[in-house]
Amino acid sequence: MKKKNQKVHKDSNIKVVILGSGFAGVNVYQYLHKLVHGFGVSFYMVSDVNYFQFTPLLHEVASGLLRPEDIISPIRENINCCVGDFILDKVVSIDVNARIVKLEHTSINFDYLVIATGASTNYRGIEGAKEYSYPLKTIDDAAELKNKVIALFEGREESSSDSEISIIVVGGGPTGIEIATELSDLTDNLAPLYKSIKKENIKISIFNATENFLNGFPDVLKKSVKNAFKKGRISLRLDAAVQKVEEATLVLKSGESAHFDLLIWAGGVLPNTPEMNLPSFDITKRITVTDYLNLEGYAHIFAIGDVSDIKDHPVPQLAQVAIDEAKVCAYNILQSIEGKPLVKYRNSLKGFLLSLGRFNAASEVGSMLFLGFTAWVLWKFFYLSMMFGKGSKIKILFDWFFDAFESRDLLKIDKNKR
Ligand SMILES: Cc1cc2nc3c(=O)[nH]c(=O)nc-3n(C[C@H](O)[C@H](O)[C@H](O)COP(=O)(O)OP(=O)(O)OC[C@H]3O[C@@H](n4cnc5c(N)ncnc54)[C@H](O)[C@@H]3O)c2cc1C
Repeated sequence: MKKKNQKVHKDSNIKVVILGSGFAGVNVYQYLHKLVHGFGVSFYMVSDVNYFQFTPLLHEVASGLLRPEDIISPIRENINCCVGDFILDKVVSIDVNARIVKLEHTSINFDYLVIATGASTNYRGIEGAKEYSYPLKTIDDAAELKNKVIALFEGREESSSDSEISIIVVGGGPTGIEIATELSDLTDNLAPLYKSIKKENIKISIFNATENFLNGFPDVLKKSVKNAFKKGRISLRLDAAVQKVEEATLVLKSGESAHFDLLIWAGGVLPNTPEMNLPSFDITKRITVTDYLNLEGYAHIFAIGDVSDIKDHPVPQLAQVAIDEAKVCAYNILQSIEGKPLVKYRNSLKGFLLSLGRFNAASEVGSMLFLGFTAWVLWKFFYLSMMFGKGSKIKILFDWFFDAFESRDLLKIDKNKR
């Protein structure tokens, strides 16, 4: 699939519009730009934020291991050549026939469109879930979560109460597991700084709706996860579907209830599907694409990353999938411009990687299994290689190195207090 384009004419004046500045959007720009640089193709990117955020490290921001600015990178630094414009705006709808994207403040037409608007936290319509829980999907969520943990400890100290602190994570997928193990480390670091708080009184629990947690992950990895839970005093509740959330109380479908001081919602994602004038279109679902990653009947409209799914070949919502899809999508746009046949996307999951707190991880790459410290190093460097910008990589490396010898960043910054 490697080739440098020779045939796109210099004056071709083709307008490629990319919606979203996440893994899929930025990578499709980077791959396609390499293929068509200097041949009259201009790129337009639309996003509701002017940065790229590196989600696989959000839990490390929430636990004070990394600073928020470490894992975001200015979008204008990442897309800076053959660029018609970067538009900071929200996508509202797409007229697939007229080839126009309607934004909140303007609209834009396209020759080729790549929809890469990702996904948001899914509260599944559960009463009180959004109101009383903290999500972990954006850089602001991560910073707010860390502030909340510290505020919780400060509140306990002020009231000199030594009662139990209950932190509940809803969702036994990778995000739920990673944030629970990371918070176990954070609270272990915090506890000795407060006279009233004893480590043993901090209870972290994960509530998973079904019998099976970490769906799709190999059993051998689940075993190391359970060991990490023992070490981190984390309890796992299976078959514990949430019915509703009240202030400080989680009510399960079984009728049981559980008290919480902090509730984190890691119960899945909902695609950010824009409104489209397509037959039998459902805005609440991922956009169905062909094996070539374009819409059936609309060869010049592609949808990749978390917002889309492939017809008859479902793909997981992962950064590594978004990046691989971006590669195929870029190549197919070039093939289409040249009037050549498109290639099919083949799911090429490299493996499973899961961080389990400080110096601990579990990963399966091909048939090789890595656990503990080795997996932790592998995990760190695999994700570091996916981050954009030399500056960000250096900042992350520096913070990880610093954390190995020193405590994490335990500052609570109150945005409203000036
Ligand atoms: C906490 C957490 C941890 C994760 N850990 C891992 C991991 O370890 N490994 C892994 O492979 N994956 C991980 N993932 C999943 C991974 O983040 C996603 O699969 C990946 O981000 C998908 O890329 P994307 O480009 O499709 O979406 P995103 O990266 O979410 O990008 C979507 C972009 O679209 C923009 N946007 C959204 N709606 C609109 C709109 N209406 N108008 C304009 N712009 C819009 C957003 O601002 C964003 O720029 C994790 C996710 C989370 C939340």
